[in-house]
Amino acid sequence: MIWRTEIPYKVNYFTWLLAKQAILTHENLNKRKPNLCSSCYLCEEQVETVNHLFLHCKWTDQLWQMFI
Ligand SMILES: [Zn+2]
Repeated sequence: MIWRTEIPYKVNYFTWLLAKQAILTHENLNKRKPNLCSSCYLCEEQVETVNHLFLHCKWTDQLWQMFI
């Protein structure tokens, strides 16, 4: 379904990575190379997971509130 839309390829690819939770967050980077900082780049309060970064971070939440 992601690939059948007529949006730019970069947006399709980013959406596909997001759906597979393969975005290079600190959590995913730590799987490849341990000992990296795992705190959220935006709020520096919690571990930077895909769900936190795109849904639950207080800064991301403000962005979603602007669109909703
Ligand atoms: Zn955060």
